[in-house]
This record gives sequence, structure tokens and C-alpha cells, in this order.
Amino acid sequence: MIHPSIPTNLQIIRERIEAAARRSGRDPREIELVAVSKKHPPEQIREAWDSGQELFGESRVQEALVKIPLLPSNLRWHFIGHLQSNKIRKMLPLFELIHGVDQLQTARDLDRIGGELGMLPRVLLEVNISGEPSKKGFDPKALEQIIEEMLSMPRLQVEGLMTMAPLAGEAESSRPYFSGLRDLRDQLAQKTGIPLATLSMGMSGDFEIAVEEGATLCRVGSSIFGELLRNEKFPLIENF
Ligand SMILES: *Cc1c(COP(=O)(O)O)cnc(C)c1O
Repeated sequence: MIHPSIPTNLQIIRERIEAAARRSGRDPREIELVAVSKKHPPEQIREAWDSGQELFGESRVQEALVKIPLLPSNLRWHFIGHLQSNKIRKMLPLFELIHGVDQLQTARDLDRIGGELGMLPRVLLEVNISGEPSKKGFDPKALEQIIEEMLSMPRLQVEGLMTMAPLAGEAESSRPYFSGLRDLRDQLAQKTGIPLATLSMGMSGDFEIAVEEGATLCRVGSSIFGELLRNEKFPLIENF
């Protein structure tokens, strides 16, 4: 397979993030790019690292447990997938932030296991802002209560919110979901007294809109590493 040029792709995306930030009167340094490396082999991650990308996103624990030890230890990792409680103990030491907590029980388990490991798990709460039944995430109306409950978990650090806009042909159609997440954050921060400073929103198709609406983390995969072909197999991760 001919790989797209990872360094060039990264540079273009960084420039587009910067331009979107300036357009909307934001400091580009408020936004960090999460290079979503799921299903891509360590050599490609290494290539991104060599061109200055430090932060990567993985969505499957099994895959991450194989790949992360093969890469330099100063790479930083965010977990962006659906987290099952039985995987927490293994994954927690490897990831600095968990983006998609979508159940109270997962939060309880993170708090308890964090205590056992001497760690303070940092999390974002996934919000189903579009209300589509097929989407994961907390109901926006339930979140105040949920955050209040999480405040009684001594180890858990709730740092912000995450969402995925519905699939759409046009980036612009994501805007109301992203501005909705920001408004929700502003209300919840006021009501609960915790700042919820981090907003994880925007993917390859709509990250500029997300930046314009206040994203602090954009999760971009295919625009950096290329599309994955359905039947493509990498020797290392065939078994996942
Ligand atoms: C795969 C994935 C992304 C990246 O999507 P692209 O469209 O490839 O940029 C972002 N967020 C989550 C949760 C993902 O699973």
C-alpha cells in the first residue's frame, strides 16, 4: 500500500486548526490535535511522532496494549473508544485521558480501580447531543445529576465533555451539535461549580467547525493516516 504522506497531512491539519482558531478569535494554543491511530500500525505512528506529533488516540484496549509498548515511552495516549470495566486495570496506566465515559458504573469502576492503583483517572463525559437513539452518551438533561454524583467519587477527575456529531456530508451540519455541547458545558460548569474546561469534538470531516465552536481537543484519524480499506490487514494487528 502506498501511504499518504503523514508529515504533510499533519502539517496541513495543524495549519487548518490554526486558521480556524484565528477566524473565531481564539488562541490556537488552546487546541490540541489528537492523532487517531486506531487500526494503523506502529510504523505509521512513529512517522507521525518523527514529525512532531506527541498525542495519539486509540479506541481498542487490546490493540493499544500491543502497540503502545512498541513505541517511544514519551508518546501521550488518549482513550477514545467505549471502555469496558473489565479492561480498566490494564489500560489506565497507559492513557492520560479517557474521552468517552458514558455510564455511571464505568465512572465508579474508574474511581475504585484508580484508588487501588494510586491514580487519579481523568475523564470526559460523552454526551448524546443529537439525541439519536443509535448514539452513545449521556442524555444532556441527565448530566447535572450525573456530575453531582461523580463529585462524590474522590479519585475521578471530570475534566469536560465529548461528543460525535451525526454523520453528514457537510461539515457545516455539525455546527449546531458543537455549539450545543459548548452551551451545555457553560450551563453545567455554572451549576456544578467544576470548570469542565475540555471539549473533545471534531473529526476529519468537521474539525474546523469544532474549533470555531470551542473545541480544545480534535480527534482526527483518516486525514492524517489515510482511509482504512475494509479488507486491509496489518500483520501485527490481524488478531484484534
Ligand atoms: C475513529 C474515530 C475518530 C477519527 O475519525 P476520522 O473521521 O477518521 O478522523 C474520532 N473519534 C472517534 C471516537 C473515533 O472512533
